[in-house]
Parts: sequence; structure tokens; C-alpha cells
Amino acid sequence: MTWEERWHPLREEWVVIAAHRQDRPWSGGTIVADEKVLPGYLSECYLCPGNKRVSGRSNLDYEQIFVFDNDHPSVAIDAPANVELDSIVYKSRPATGIARVVCYSPKHDLTLAELAPPEIESLLRVWQEQYTNLGSRPEIEHVLIFENKGEAVGVSNPHPHCQIYANNFVFKTIENEARISQAYFKERGRPIFQDIIAAEKADGRRIIAENDTAIAFLPYFARYAYEVFVAPKETHPSIAGLSAKEVTDFAEVLKTVLVKFDNLWKIPFPYVMPLHQAPTDGGNYDAFHFHIEFHPPLRKPNLLKYLAGPEIGGGNFLSDTSPEEKAAELIAMSPIHYKLEANG
Ligand SMILES: [Zn+2]
Ligand SMILES: [Zn+2]
Repeated sequence: MTWEERWHPLREEWVVIAAHRQDRPWSGGTIVADEKVLPGYLSECYLCPGNKRVSGRSNLDYEQIFVFDNDHPSVAIDAPANVELDSIVYKSRPATGIARVVCYSPKHDLTLAELAPPEIESLLRVWQEQYTNLGSRPEIEHVLIFENKGEAVGVSNPHPHCQIYANNFVFKTIENEARISQAYFKERGRPIFQDIIAAEKADGRRIIAENDTAIAFLPYFARYAYEVFVAPKETHPSIAGLSAKEVTDFAEVLKTVLVKFDNLWKIPFPYVMPLHQAPTDGGNYDAFHFHIEFHPPLRKPNLLKYLAGPEIGGGNFLSDTSPEEKAAELIAMSPIHYKLEANG
């Protein structure tokens, strides 16, 4: 039983771990994951190769990875300028930015977990290019790359894809991590993420996968039951700094985490997966350590973690699970995807 508060050093806030509440009675609704057998190509899918999108534009007949500008962008280079406000506290400005979609594969029925390691490597290289190219534009202060996966996080189209928001501001979580990383480095002379990796290695119970240059762990301060961080061992402010060898190693560790997630309950495991990378606003972020964070919404098969009073009302997380127990569950999972085990 874990019942304590743990400090989240990258957010500078307390997480309440109350794992003794995990088995409290639940009479509410559950999410039913009915795994449909999907076709490899779907004529109604706006992400499948050659298909027409709502905008009238057509997808290329792509064979590997396909990047295009979002037809319904939240930000755009030509976003309208609003009328001038006459107010002391209220401000407004154009929603300037670039929103893109990256299709991982032409195959409608695949997920990131099922891509072969070289295909994941190609995707990492596309993310490197996108971060570098979008981040070098003067109007772009940050490039947020993320994948929302599964109906539990509101995604209705299973075609494997992620999104890119290149914005004229830095998202709050990144702004905080960047500030905390630089302050910690100034004070102690080491990147904070290096000390987090060292603490995880010293404990050892929460490491999910590791090779020469990459590591995945369920952090001591996890807010979500199956929260996992994937990071290179060396500090690079963005994915663009990874060498070819580091890309290969990172793809291998990422793949292992994704497969273990799917194997937990033998369903395509839903998550929100952001890449945390340094802002591109010209500041000094040499102590920022690029990493991927997985925020899975389920805490049990078919049971959502609801964000309520503590999280929405108060701004701090209350976790009903023990990070050590959840890490042990993931560590115990096979690194071979259940769909392949079934076929083989
Ligand atoms: Zn599709
Ligand atoms: Zn982060």
C-alpha cells in the first residue's frame, strides 16, 4: 500500500498517491473497448492514401509517412486579426501558427505499436525535420508534436497519425519545464533530468526498458496509473539533437513500451503522447532534456481516470495507484505484440 505525497520535480507540485483507494466500489460507467477488425484501406478514411479530405484536397498516394497541413487548423499563418479591445485585463491577438498531421503509415489498421523498428526510426527522423524546419521560422516559438490515441481520448479515426502544433507561444507545461530545467542547472550544475534518470536507475523498480542510449521508466512522481517517460540518456534539448545511433536506440525502447502497453489488456492501449522539447523562441535551453511522456487515461481495463475536484478544481493530481505496482505490471508484459503471438 502506498499512501503519501510525492514531489513532481518537473512541475514543482505535489502528487497525492492514495493507492489504498484503488479498489473502492465503482458503480459508474465503464469504457468498453470493442476491438473491431479494421481493413488495411478504408475509402471513407480522410487519412488513407489517395482519399479526398473534407477540404477537397486529396492525400498523396503515399507509401511510407505522409505530412500535410491540417484542414481544420487551430492556428494558421493567415489567422484573422481580431477587432481591437478596449480593456485593461483582456487581450487578444491572431492565432498565428502552423498545424500539421503526420500519417505514420498508409495502412489504416496499424498502430504505432505495430510498426517495425525501422519504420519508427523513419518517423523519428520526420519529427526531427519537422521540429527543425518549423522551429526555425521566426513566428514559431514552440513546436508541440503529439499523438492522441483511442476513443477514450476522443479520437474517432484509428488511422495511425499524430499532430503538430507550431505556435506563436510556448505551451504552459513546456514553459514550466524549461524554466525549472534552467534554474536547476544554474543551481546544481547538472540537468534535472539527469538526476531523475539517476534516481530511477538507483531504485530500479520502475524502469520499463533500457538500452545503450535510451531509457523508459514509470516515474516515481507519476500522476497517471501507467504514465511512462521515454528519453535519451544524454541531454538534448530536442529530438533534432539525437544521433543516428540514438534514434535507433530510442525507437527500440519506444517500441518496447508501446507493445507492453497493448499487451496489458490485449487492446490498442489509449494514450496522449506529447514530445516535450525546448521552445524555439531564441532562448537558452541547453539544460532542457527532450523526452516523450505517455499520459494514458485508463487506470484499469475499461475504467477511466476521471479528472475531478483535486485535478480540475485544485490543480494537483490524486493518483489511486502505486507507481511501483503499475511499473511491475508493465515490466512483466511480453515485448512481443499480442497480435503477433496470436498469429505465430
Ligand atoms: Zn485510413
Ligand atoms: Zn515533460
